[in-house]
Amino acid sequence: MQQASFDGIPQTFLPLLRQGLSGLPETLQALAEALKTQRSYIFRLKEQDGTWYASQVAEWAASDTAPQIQNPALQNLPMKEAGYTRWLEAFLQNQAIAGPVYSFPEAERPLLEAQDIQSLLVVPIWVEEGLWGFLGVDDCQQERSFTPEEAAFLRGVAEVLARTLDLFERHRWLERLLSLSPFYVARLGVAGVLLWANPALQKAFPQGLSLPIEAALEKPGQPLTATTLDANPTEWTFMAVPGPGSETLEILALGVDIRDRLEAQEREMRWSTFRQNLLRVYETLMTEGFSDSIFSLILDAALNTVPSAQAGSVVILMEDGYYHFVTARGYDLAALRQIRLQPGDPISLTEHKKTHIFTQEDLQRYNRRLDAKQRQVMEEAGRVREIQAILSVPVYMTGQRKAILYLDNFERSDAFAPLDVELAQAFASQLGLLLRRMELEGRLQHLAYHDALTGLPNRLFFMEKLAQALQHEARPTVLYLDLDGLKLVNDLEGHAAGDEVIRGIATRLQAALRPRDIVARQGGDEFLVLLTGIETVEEVIKVGERLLEVARLPLPLGERTYRITTSIGIAMGEVGLSPGEFLQRADMALYRAKAEGKNRLAFYETQLQDALRREMELLEALQSDLESNKNLTLLYQPIVNLKTRKTEALEALLRWPKAPPSEFIPLAERHHLMPRLGNWVLRRACMDRNRHGLPVHVNVSPQELLQPNYAELVVNVLEETNCPPDALILEITESSLIPDGRGRDASQTIGFLKRLGVRVYLDDFGSGYSSLERLANLPVDGLKLGQAFTNALSTPPNPTSSAARLVAAVLALAQALNLAAIAEGIEHEAALNYLQDLGFSLGQGYILGRPNPLGGL
Ligand code: C2E
Ligand code: MG
Ligand code: MG
Repeated sequence: MQQASFDGIPQTFLPLLRQGLSGLPETLQALAEALKTQRSYIFRLKEQDGTWYASQVAEWAASDTAPQIQNPALQNLPMKEAGYTRWLEAFLQNQAIAGPVYSFPEAERPLLEAQDIQSLLVVPIWVEEGLWGFLGVDDCQQERSFTPEEAAFLRGVAEVLARTLDLFERHRWLERLLSLSPFYVARLGVAGVLLWANPALQKAFPQGLSLPIEAALEKPGQPLTATTLDANPTEWTFMAVPGPGSETLEILALGVDIRDRLEAQEREMRWSTFRQNLLRVYETLMTEGFSDSIFSLILDAALNTVPSAQAGSVVILMEDGYYHFVTARGYDLAALRQIRLQPGDPISLTEHKKTHIFTQEDLQRYNRRLDAKQRQVMEEAGRVREIQAILSVPVYMTGQRKAILYLDNFERSDAFAPLDVELAQAFASQLGLLLRRMELEGRLQHLAYHDALTGLPNRLFFMEKLAQALQHEARPTVLYLDLDGLKLVNDLEGHAAGDEVIRGIATRLQAALRPRDIVARQGGDEFLVLLTGIETVEEVIKVGERLLEVARLPLPLGERTYRITTSIGIAMGEVGLSPGEFLQRADMALYRAKAEGKNRLAFYETQLQDALRREMELLEALQSDLESNKNLTLLYQPIVNLKTRKTEALEALLRWPKAPPSEFIPLAERHHLMPRLGNWVLRRACMDRNRHGLPVHVNVSPQELLQPNYAELVVNVLEETNCPPDALILEITESSLIPDGRGRDASQTIGFLKRLGVRVYLDDFGSGYSSLERLANLPVDGLKLGQAFTNALSTPPNPTSSAARLVAAVLALAQALNLAAIAEGIEHEAALNYLQDLGFSLGQGYILGRPNPLGGL
């Protein structure tokens, strides 16, 4: 027996220690040689269903010894069944099996002898997990025992092998872990080349990655961090470490995907912006109270919170059943206000019940459906054509889609991210809350008809009032105002100043008009005024000039003082005109006012101006003729007893060569010349009576009769002309009996005159407001049946016609009330006979006598 020399210790251990499992063949050889044996080997032991199997997995055999690695008997050898229970038990107790084969139990020997083994030494290999296998050497040349030193040496090798196996196992686990890990793991060369990358990294960075590795290379062993923010935002930790088996360095890098973290941060930031902006809205609400500007506030806040929104607007469902724009940013609100959106139109901006993103194509489809006018309005509103995406968020109130918030982007159709949508929805729900409050306070109604900037009625309201006026008023008038220099203010002082000018002018216009007049903001710097109850060009001009004047008053703005002039186009209503045509006429007139040099009025059509010029000329002539007592004359028309054909009285009718009474008498009334003119007529008629001796009828206009001293005046004239009161009959019109704007009527004066003996007749009965019922209460002595009735009697008169029946009824009533009745305007024999047959005793008309100068009677 020989002592082991152990010369081969380093050769046995070093390969394993240095190279891991790849050093195994060298180790097996060195081991066999150190122990002076011809074979060394490793068996793997595995337990399966309670049975241990052994399989040879590695072997070194000397050149003169038969290798057994291919021996099928040494694969999956069941230890117990094959007779090696002793071995298994020894291994499980971490003991070796050693010695000459002949000394082994009978059952063990055949398999060993078949391999020519004389002696052997085997030791178990225990890894962390437990019994792994065994390591052994065979001496095929002599029977020998192994020394404890030799056994200890073999155990030492088995231990190193076990640790190497453990490491290997761990490495495999680590590799698996890295391949499954969502973290990015990489090794990079000093030039930044990717040497190795785990699957997560390969997938996320198919193009490779670039890290600032220079700094790491300068300080090997020191961990550095960096964040890359491309498609895969990542936070990296990396370090330069020595490369495997060489002096060069390499970089180990570990990356964490921080997209979620960034998103969470952004979310938090955006929601915090949302809260801040919302707070600001509520602050303003608290300090400035509730107003229509709430929509602008909310919209601004939304735009501020959603940076992808470059413009936006809010529409609200109004009383008329349409959506109207109430605020806009990036567009001209005045233009948008002219548009109304129909709810639920199949191809429209209001078609969607839920939050929706419209693309440019949707918009083009929508635009194609608009008519030319609407399209033009849209274009005027701003960069509507350039919109790439509209985020549309509906606002529901008690189940009804009451408003829509639109946020627009001009650059990308995918501009709005889910977070943008969420935030926009949050604003929309705030809008809903505020709308609800406004509705409770009755403000939505106001909103529908009012302009947010000025608080004036808006165009919608104006058009409705205009339509009403056209139905009920004789002659409504529209003034279309446009400020001349607002662009300058906007350019020099900014749009806020421009808005202030508009507000200031709005207030002035309102103050300069009567409460019944309507001033509305048409949009931009345009206003509309509706005048009712004003019939004459003269008065309209007066109002227009007043408006020009108040607008022109100095307006201090910042450092400067501005004088804003205005141009006004005027159209006066006509029967059968639609509100739209009416407004268009005023607009055309405005165009003329601008063209003629601004700061002025212009009427639709020049005839009106010509008429006005003529009116002024006539007025001047009439005034001067009246002063100089020239050109004015009286004609007398007989009032005839129909039975006797005798002239019972004369009616004085004023004549002026420059115009017929139907023109100059209303003119004199409009210019308040009637009292003077009437005085002249009365005086002259009373003077003339002394020449013809008949009772004289004198026409009196309401303006005369309403003078406080009219009765006194009549008394004076009667006295001065020596005319008995019962020779004077005043013909008044029904309008004298209707209280005027200040509640005055002529009944007291009439009462006084009647007591004096002067008679009062109601002229043109049936042409005005009269009703048979009212006739009973009129304080008059007689009435003249208007020409309209007499003329309505056909020739020959048909007694069953409504005109004939009415004439008969009026006469019956007059007789019952003891009123005298005169039929006027009798031109034909047939009418004359008919009226006579009906019972009229007095008549007047061309057939009975034309108006003539006194000398010609
Ligand atoms: P009126 O008082 O009803 O006068 C009757 C008008 O009918 C007169 O017109 C007369 O010429 C016209 N006339 C008389 N017979 C006939 C007839 O058979 N056929 C037709 N088609 N017409 C007839 P005139 O003179 O042009 O006066 C028009 C109106 O002017 C008067 O209506 C009266 O309201 C007003 N007027 C005339 N003179 C005076 C005046 O001195 N003072 C006032 N306040 N009003 C006056
Ligand atoms: Mg008359
Ligand atoms: Mg008359």
